Amino acid sequence: MSLGALPPLREALETHGLLARKSLGQHFLLDLNITRKIARLAGPLEGATVIEVGPGPGGLTRALLEAGAKVVAVEKDARFRPLLEDLAIAADGALQLVLADALAVDEAALVGGAPAAVVSNLPYNVGTPLLVKWLTGGFRPTAMTLMFQKEVARRIVAPPGSGVYGRLSVLAQACARCELVMEAPARAFTPPPKVDSAVVRVTPRDDAPDGRRLEALQTVTGAAFGQRRKMLRASLRPLGGEALCRAAGLAPESRAEAIPVAGFLALADAWRAAAG
Ligand code: SAM
Repeated sequence: MSLGALPPLREALETHGLLARKSLGQHFLLDLNITRKIARLAGPLEGATVIEVGPGPGGLTRALLEAGAKVVAVEKDARFRPLLEDLAIAADGALQLVLADALAVDEAALVGGAPAAVVSNLPYNVGTPLLVKWLTGGFRPTAMTLMFQKEVARRIVAPPGSGVYGRLSVLAQACARCELVMEAPARAFTPPPKVDSAVVRVTPRDDAPDGRRLEALQTVTGAAFGQRRKMLRASLRPLGGEALCRAAGLAPESRAEAIPVAGFLALADAWRAAAG
């Protein structure tokens, strides 16, 4: 059977007696026009290796395979094995199914150390920890195209002063170029979640901070945004307060939400320098 001869996704779910489980964030995209759009947003995929977290019924997986990607699909819910094995047969070797928790897998080992992108309609409950893992862990994807709850997507791309600008914005933007590239209303999913969603394209920077610098960045943003209404000289007091601000070239009277990513990197560097 070829990809084109596969039954519609809704029919495949019915045939295998599969109902969505809320505990696993299962809100499916059953409209192939939408999943194909997400695959297009991921850029040219012909011959590329793509890790997909949570293939579920396989709508996005089909679109990635149609675009010519070699897909490694990591699914926690073993109930989907038979349905996804049908898809693997139709994909003729281009789909590898891994039944595992994506938070625990070693992605680099899964792809044999080869460069790989990540494309996923992420389960809401683990979306942010997975993004942090891919930004800071041992496996760095070449690019990420990720569906989040809209509110999380907005935090990832938020500029300073926007109100939702926070730790996640600084970490993501220090490590990558982040763009909100598509919105999807709740009704696009089966069953519909309570909130709308959005796709963020995350393109890692060549000059992303390394391990120690990242740790320092997490420390200063934790302190600064932990008390975001306070002036930096107060929120950063345990780390050096006013002297630290001045060493980083920042006004001690400013507040975390006004500081651009470069300012936080300067704070991280100044804190490391002071700590020796
Ligand atoms: N990709 C499918 C789609 O777009 O229709 C399903 C997306 S659904 C939002 C999230 C999927 O992630 C579900 O299939 C769920 O079982 C799976 N999942 C949830 N937690 C997971 C985890 N920790 N590791 C791997 N897969 C997970």
